[in-house]
Amino acid sequence: MSSEGPRRRRGLMLVLSSPSGAGKTTLTRMLTRDDSEVELSVSWTTRPPRQGEIDGVHYYFVTRDAFRAHRAADGFLEWAEVHDNFYGSPRAAVMSALKSGRDVLFDIDWQGAQQLTNSAAADVVKVFILPPSMKDLRARLESRAQDTKEVIKRRLSNAYSEISRWDGYDYVLVNEDLDACYTQLRAIISAERQRRQRQPWLPGFVQTLLKEDT
Ligand code: 5GP
Repeated sequence: MSSEGPRRRRGLMLVLSSPSGAGKTTLTRMLTRDDSEVELSVSWTTRPPRQGEIDGVHYYFVTRDAFRAHRAADGFLEWAEVHDNFYGSPRAAVMSALKSGRDVLFDIDWQGAQQLTNSAAADVVKVFILPPSMKDLRARLESRAQDTKEVIKRRLSNAYSEISRWDGYDYVLVNEDLDACYTQLRAIISAERQRRQRQPWLPGFVQTLLKEDT
């Protein structure tokens, strides 16, 4: 069912969390490529860009002062300090996407997921991606060769505490095989879109159905 037209549904806030290197960013890319109803929330961050990252596409790369000013002006729907840097989801962009009936995908950590739940529980669907093993996670972090040894070490040690938050999520996927994991993710989204409360046109539709002669 499309989000356009008379049967327009309520957009959902889809949160994807995982420790760095578990495949979340790849899944996010696949989803925004294949599903035109999903829009990625581009976060603000104070961390420096990695090789190949583009300002305004992967993140908005900002100074700590700019981040603090936006936060003080209530410009973030949620924000958190992760790996010694600030990250936040800009409120205005998300609200305008939801208003137009689109789903918004958040690649954010457990702290952000919790804040979104606190402010908009009915609209939030939370998915956690687990690596098949910690050895596998380390191998993935090392093979992407984007971070220094020091950064990889910190991300690995943070992974243990991030994984311990798995039980705050609605769905948990083990990313053993990327394509299988992606199929499961799309099935979750498809089912969540059909929830009764996300289809405000249903009561009117059913009323009309019941008045119809056979
Ligand atoms: P990275 O530096 O690897 O891109 O992201 C580090 C962590 O910060 C990831 O777990 C990512 O999901 C999280 N993150 C990215 N953007 C946001 C955001 O806007 N809010 C929150 N709470 N976490 C974020």
